[in-house]
Amino acid sequence: MKMKALVVHAVRAPKPGYEFDEFEKRTGIVRNGAMVWKDAVYGIEEVEVPQVGDDDVLIKVAACGVCGSDGHVHEKDKDGYINFAWLTRFPLIPGHEFCGEIVEKGKNVETFQVGDYVTAEEMQYCGHCEECRTYHFNQCSNLLEPGSTIPGGMAEYIKVNKKFVWSINDIVEAYGVDDGLELGALVEPTGIAYNGTIIKSGGIHPGTYGAVYGAGAIGLGCIALMRQAGMAKIFAFEVNEERQRMAKEFGADFVFNPVVLSKQDLTSREVIMEHTNGWGCDLQIEAAGKPDILYPQMSLSVAAGGSIVNIAHSPKNDAAPVNVAQMIWRNGRVTGSNGHAGDAIFKNVIGLIAAKRFDYRKLITGRYALDDAEQAIIDTQKASGGKNLIKMR
Ligand SMILES: [Zn+2]
Ligand SMILES: [Zn+2]
Repeated sequence: MKMKALVVHAVRAPKPGYEFDEFEKRTGIVRNGAMVWKDAVYGIEEVEVPQVGDDDVLIKVAACGVCGSDGHVHEKDKDGYINFAWLTRFPLIPGHEFCGEIVEKGKNVETFQVGDYVTAEEMQYCGHCEECRTYHFNQCSNLLEPGSTIPGGMAEYIKVNKKFVWSINDIVEAYGVDDGLELGALVEPTGIAYNGTIIKSGGIHPGTYGAVYGAGAIGLGCIALMRQAGMAKIFAFEVNEERQRMAKEFGADFVFNPVVLSKQDLTSREVIMEHTNGWGCDLQIEAAGKPDILYPQMSLSVAAGGSIVNIAHSPKNDAAPVNVAQMIWRNGRVTGSNGHAGDAIFKNVIGLIAAKRFDYRKLITGRYALDDAEQAIIDTQKASGGKNLIKMR
């Protein structure tokens, strides 16, 4: 049986000096895609529907969100290489934020039934490497990722191992099938926000102060979580007007445009200190991918015992100056947050969306047909609005 899918082809041309490790040689997966793949070409193709194995389910995809990372794969550097320095293998069906309905299952799948509404984790960890056995699933050294290294959700069907599948029946029950099968595609990106804001931050104490730099789909998710966790003052820094408006709607008390601030000779630190009586922020989240610009100010804005959590991947600027003296004096810490596996994140995010405490439908600002999937990716790179969804139903 055939299905329609967005398929990306790229030329494997390692830049001089790039050395493949054992995992890369064995699997054909590349750890740093920006060093190896060039001249990516996108097109809608007829391909085989995946064959389910004994432990797999076949999902008829209802919706698939576009992630910033899908955009980075689409971008090219001056030599035509993809602008995505992470795990990749081509040809590729993009998409790791999907949901749909189970239409077939393997003989070992007992906890899911045909007809269940489900989503799935992107971080498909092996469970037996040293990282996995020490519960660092997001750091798995054999990680597979739909949409990057195995076929993703920008297709009519996707096959997923039962280990990574989560029921969204509760969301569909709460919102109905039409909205539920859009909201299901938000579980993965909201899980990314949850990992940084709630887990890697060390938790949120109600009454504390937070700041989010970059109010894209992830940053907006962080703001909503900060609000629901009871933060007393929430700052958002964002250049795009629509995203500024959404940041307010999602729960930010103070929204600043950093470009306007700098024209006024003001810094993010100055406005944070002004509105917190010099205390600073207990939790700051980098969701903009501009660490080189943001970290000097963020490290000066840290509250006593405060945290800086880095979620955004910044393909170009991954080195950033930190005011170390201030971080020591304030007993501050900086931590990375990758992925969403473990720590009950998917379970809790599904519960949160289904509970209707906050209407996550507001996050969806663009809807595209599968035929227009490449356009959805291009539009996502314009960094305006919330989440773009590709819809198959
Ligand atoms: Zn993503
Ligand atoms: Zn592993």
